[in-house]
Amino acid sequence: MNADPRSAAESGALPEAVRLLAGGDFSTVAQRFTEAGFAVGLPAAGILTVKAAVADAARPAVLVSVGVHGDETGPIEMVAWLIEALSHTPRALAVDLMLCVGSIDAIAVGKRFIDADLNRMFRSERGALAGTFEAARADTIIAATVDFFAGAGPARWHLDLHTAIRPSHYPMFAIVPELIAEERRKALIDWLGQAAIGAVIMNPKSVGTYSYYSSEHHGAAGTTVELGRVGTLGQNDLSQFADASQALDQLLRGQAGAAAKVAPHVFATARQVIKLSDAFSMSVGRDTWNFTPMKKGEVIATDGDTVYTVEHDEELVVFPNPDVRVGLRAGLMVTRIG
Ligand SMILES: [Zn+2]
Repeated sequence: MNADPRSAAESGALPEAVRLLAGGDFSTVAQRFTEAGFAVGLPAAGILTVKAAVADAARPAVLVSVGVHGDETGPIEMVAWLIEALSHTPRALAVDLMLCVGSIDAIAVGKRFIDADLNRMFRSERGALAGTFEAARADTIIAATVDFFAGAGPARWHLDLHTAIRPSHYPMFAIVPELIAEERRKALIDWLGQAAIGAVIMNPKSVGTYSYYSSEHHGAAGTTVELGRVGTLGQNDLSQFADASQALDQLLRGQAGAAAKVAPHVFATARQVIKLSDAFSMSVGRDTWNFTPMKKGEVIATDGDTVYTVEHDEELVVFPNPDVRVGLRAGLMVTRIG
């Protein structure tokens, strides 16, 4: 293994740990945890589970997913180095762990997805997306997730790590389903503060994301975390992920949480802007920064007879993208509540 990831990236070669994880190959780290006496599973390509040999409901169950979007490579590198280090002292793992690399095939070709957005497939009604490559991958991931959380104790986590595809007034932010019970939600937001996540958006309704699925169906404290900017595999500036990496490492080692780096600002969802037809037109484009404020009365989008208008004194737009498929979310409007 090349000890210096930067020189490896410059020479065009990926460090071994990153290359293996990006390809969904967990065999090397699985071997180390197996030798240390854990119950290790490789239920599908790109999925690793490491559980205590004797089931223990007091042990937290932590699901970490990366690469759900194949072009969001920073968290892949971050988790590759983290699990490589942890696997050398495997007994330090204090939780039952599932690691999932979402879109292995898209990562291999440097794309966001093969047919369609994997992070819209985690719901029963898939409509026109049902026959896509990603629908089948979601079924595989769901089956592994069901098995992982079966019999787990109450402390269940799902951290789905992404990077944003556009600049943001909050460089790092997270989406948290409202349906998570209050005590678990507080623990999750505390962890997000340790990871230096500046903003948390409370989400009342699924748009088919993996973390919402885990929260709704498995009682996990789940979140989709946007950790900085999209970049090329092997060439990411990992310093932007240092706080998140440390917070994740502490969670997996069962170390009491460090002091929060930030107290995340909390936002409520004012509305999801859904693209209803091909007549959809949006006043903000893909280049608009996340958390750009809009004033009361401003038109966000029109779609035939439907007009989406800012109703609060101020709403901030997140994930604006008029180019999504009909039926999918073209933007999220939020208001600050804490
Ligand atoms: Zn993403």
